Amino acid sequence: MTDLYAVLGNPVAHSKSPLIHSEFARQTGQDMDYGAILAPLDGFAATIGRLRMEGYRGCNVTVPFKFEAFSLSTSHTERAEIAKTVNTLKFAEEGVFGDNTDGAGLVADIRNNHHVAISDKRILLVGAGGAAWGALFPLLAEMPERLIISNRTIAKAEEAVRVFSSRARRKTEFAARAFDALAGERFDIVINATSSGLKDELPALPQGLFAEGSLAYDMMYGKKTPFMTFAIEQGAEKIADGLGMLVEQAAESFFFWRGIRPETRPVIEKLKS
Ligand code: NDP
Repeated sequence: MTDLYAVLGNPVAHSKSPLIHSEFARQTGQDMDYGAILAPLDGFAATIGRLRMEGYRGCNVTVPFKFEAFSLSTSHTERAEIAKTVNTLKFAEEGVFGDNTDGAGLVADIRNNHHVAISDKRILLVGAGGAAWGALFPLLAEMPERLIISNRTIAKAEEAVRVFSSRARRKTEFAARAFDALAGERFDIVINATSSGLKDELPALPQGLFAEGSLAYDMMYGKKTPFMTFAIEQGAEKIADGLGMLVEQAAESFFFWRGIRPETRPVIEKLKS
C-alpha cells in the first residue's frame, strides 16, 4: 500500500513540499504519496487526528502551526525539544514523534551548497521568530566565533540567548543586540530570518555590516527581497535565498520518516529552473 504524507498549513496552496517529496520518492524508489492539506486555523489537532485515522504515516507542518505541532507531539527529537517548535511529525501506534529540521536544513545549505564554513565565523542572525529559534541550536553546534541575534523586538532575541546560552561552546560569543547597537560591527554571514521580505520591507539594520567576502542569506525564497538588495549595495560577496534550505530541511524530514537520504542538488536545480 502506498504510504501517505502531507504538508499542513494555512495557507498551504503555495507550498513546494509536494513537488520536493515526490522528487525524493521517485529518486529513492519509495512508494509514497505526498499532498498539501489546508488545516482550519482552529482545527490543527482535529486535522492531525483525521490523518492518523486515515492511515497517514506523517506530515510536515508549516505556518502557523509549528508551535501547536510541538505541543501535540508525544515525544521530540533533541533539536525539536530545544527549538520548542516542530515542522515534521511521524505517526506511530505509540504516539506522535516531532522533529524540527529547519535549522539543519539551513546549515546544510550554507555549508554544502554555498560552500561557506560556519565554524570560526562571525554570524549575525536577524529575527527571533520560529525560524530563527529553529536555527540557533544547529548554528551554535557549528561553533562560530560569534553568533549575534538581533530582532526588532529585542526582548525576543534576549529571551533566545537566555534559552540557548547553555548550548553555546565557550569559544563562541553568543549575545543579543538591538539593530542600532550593531553599528560598527562586521559579519561574515548575515542571515535574514525575519518575514520582512513578505511585505517588501527591510529590517532597520545599520550600514556596513558585511565583511569582505561575506554571505548574505535570506530564508525567504521566490523573490528578490529588500534585504538582498541592501546586501548587494552594502558589498556582500554572495547572496542566497532560502530555496536550498527548503529542500535540505525536506531531505531531513524524508530521512526522519524513511531512513534514506535523498540527493538534494538535482531537486534544487529543478526548482530553480
Ligand atoms: P515568525 O512570524 O515566527 O517571525 C517573524 C520575525 O520577523 C520576527 O522576528 C519579527 O520581528 C520579524 N519581522 C517581521 N517583519 C519585520 C520587519 N519589517 N522588520 C524587522 N523584523 C521583522 O516567522 P518565521 O520565523 O516562521 O519565518 C520567518 C521567515 O523565514 C519567513 O519569511 C519564512 O518564509 C522563512 N522561512 C523559510 C524556511 C525555508 O525553508 N526557506 C523555513 C522557515 C521559515 P518581531 O519579533 O519584532 O515582530
